[in-house]
Amino acid sequence: MDYCSRLLHIMQRIENAKQNSGLKEDIKLIAVSKTVTSAEVTELYKAGCTAFGENRVQSLKEKREELSVLPIEWHFIGRLQTNKINQLIALRPALIHSCDNLKLALEINKRLKTLGQTLDALLQINSAKEATKAGVEPENAMEVYEEIIHTCQHLKLKGVMSIGAHTDDIGAIQKSFEVTRKIYELTLPFGAKYCSMGMSGDFELAIKCGANIVRLGSILFK
Ligand SMILES: *Cc1c(COP(=O)(O)O)cnc(C)c1O
Repeated sequence: MDYCSRLLHIMQRIENAKQNSGLKEDIKLIAVSKTVTSAEVTELYKAGCTAFGENRVQSLKEKREELSVLPIEWHFIGRLQTNKINQLIALRPALIHSCDNLKLALEINKRLKTLGQTLDALLQINSAKEATKAGVEPENAMEVYEEIIHTCQHLKLKGVMSIGAHTDDIGAIQKSFEVTRKIYELTLPFGAKYCSMGMSGDFELAIKCGANIVRLGSILFK
């Protein structure tokens, strides 16, 4: 299949899942390009996909530079080390999905303040409480969210992000998405707009549970 047919097919699946969910929100597709080259990003861009995500600051920097002629919207979706914050800010991502603790938020905010800039971000939730995953525990999510809203004037929280439970148990994956969606709903009064969840293996379930951003890699670039 070429990139055009593949993208259309995925967009159709997203649309169907949205119909089934009964929710009216638009769903944003982010193509995760971490395993592919800039040439492949260009192909998918030409097919009509305009938002891409990378999980390493260095890879985001390289692709952004190589593809600077294309008006791509770049997202950062990976773990952010403190020593990479300045580099990431300089790349001006549309959204940092992976702000996963208060200390990191304060640090990003401090640098942004010095520069007189702002950036949009999501609070990552460890909704299935997995030891291997980053993110705020669901019980603490609202406290941390409100703390960031009140103390970080330059890092603008716009909602939540989560990775579905790492298991074959569909029920457990669904529950992890529902936990994230509930937290998202609690953040709406603070101006939240995005509930980023769902990857290649579980995006339809994520949409059914109320995702409005899905991050798809392997299914688009196989
Ligand atoms: C790699 C990655 C994705 C995409 O995963 P696929 O299973 O390839 O769709 C989504 N989100 C994050 C945070 C990732 O690291």
